[in-house]
Amino acid sequence: MVMVVEPLPDELGKAHAGRIAYLNALPGLGKLLHRTLGPAKEHLKRNEFRQQFHYLATRLAIEPERYLAQHSMLPFLYAYSGRKNTGQMYMPLIRKWLKQADSPILQYVRSCPHCIQEQEANMGLSWWIRKHQLPGVDVCLEHKVPLIQVENQDALLRTPGFFLANSLFSTKSAPAWDHPTVSRYHEFASWLLSQPSRLHPEKLERCIKTQCGGLDIAMDIKKHVQHSSLSLYVRSAFPVDWLTTHYPVLIGENYQGREVGIDAAFRGQGATGQVIAMILASLFESPTHLLSKIEESPVHLPRLSSRRLPSIARAQLRSQEAFVQVYIQANGQANRIAALLNCQNEVIYRRLTQYGLPAMRRSKSQHRAQILKRLKDATPVELQEWGKAMQAHWQQYGKGNFQLNLSIYASLLGVI
Ligand SMILES: [Zn+2]
Repeated sequence: MVMVVEPLPDELGKAHAGRIAYLNALPGLGKLLHRTLGPAKEHLKRNEFRQQFHYLATRLAIEPERYLAQHSMLPFLYAYSGRKNTGQMYMPLIRKWLKQADSPILQYVRSCPHCIQEQEANMGLSWWIRKHQLPGVDVCLEHKVPLIQVENQDALLRTPGFFLANSLFSTKSAPAWDHPTVSRYHEFASWLLSQPSRLHPEKLERCIKTQCGGLDIAMDIKKHVQHSSLSLYVRSAFPVDWLTTHYPVLIGENYQGREVGIDAAFRGQGATGQVIAMILASLFESPTHLLSKIEESPVHLPRLSSRRLPSIARAQLRSQEAFVQVYIQANGQANRIAALLNCQNEVIYRRLTQYGLPAMRRSKSQHRAQILKRLKDATPVELQEWGKAMQAHWQQYGKGNFQLNLSIYASLLGVI
């Protein structure tokens, strides 16, 4: 059996594995993986159980979730769980979303000469820590000196002190590291890395929105406003040198005032940790400032139950006829109905099913115009009949895709 040792403070998980491989006289991380988890063919590709951390955490009786929070880069890389809310925990990222615990940043590893000396003085050895691996952070946050970088495939099997002592490293430039925005970026990046769970999307978004409103930053990416956007604001907050190295697209020739990574950061799947840290560093003084703003913003209770809704909205939800009016007004889009009635999308989806109405997409759907036009002139009896027929269809064939639902509904209405 492989001898396993405890991880050191803030030790990078892969480096912890590397240290264990070295102590067991194994020639590499691959060999350790093979020895502890068996040959690769027995596992699904990128399955969580093929990742080393799981075995090590289990052997050491550390909760895998805690191991990931304290020894992987996930808390930084996937700090924001996105509008599709992929949850606040780290384990499901691996299990469900097939994220690698560490590899995206491991083309090289970095360390700080002063930290190495301190580690050696205190513990008798040096080790690779996570804080030195943060993208966009080029100096040691404690000692404010440029990090040393090792590009050696066996780097993780040895201590950073070994590479320092043998001059087997390069020192990268640290552009504008003492610029105020860059310093704030450092603070936010290490704050994100230290989070025991991922940021809640609603709280974060509301806070960003309020802050952007106060600073007159246009956040609506659908409107063609070129002189104001979040990315323009971020670009003006960061020094050119730093952007050239870490986010060149903002100063590239093709940049026209919109950049999808930043301007659509709070849509769909959400942004990378680096983008989140860049936005936060541009808008807020410090993590403490951000947290105070989060607390200040109005508490928004989840409105899963229609009982908590204002009476008008409640009435519009309760009557099929009234609901259809809102449906027409919102072009059949669930999220727009939800916005009009000030309730959550889920409530709307339940009503759509209940009334036998197909949800429509934002993009131009076939038959939409005809359906909406016919609904306008419909009698309550017709609405009920169509709704029942649609439900009967769903019951028999399942919900299927939205385009198909629309054509079936259109034929029920007799418009095609
Ligand atoms: Zn240091």
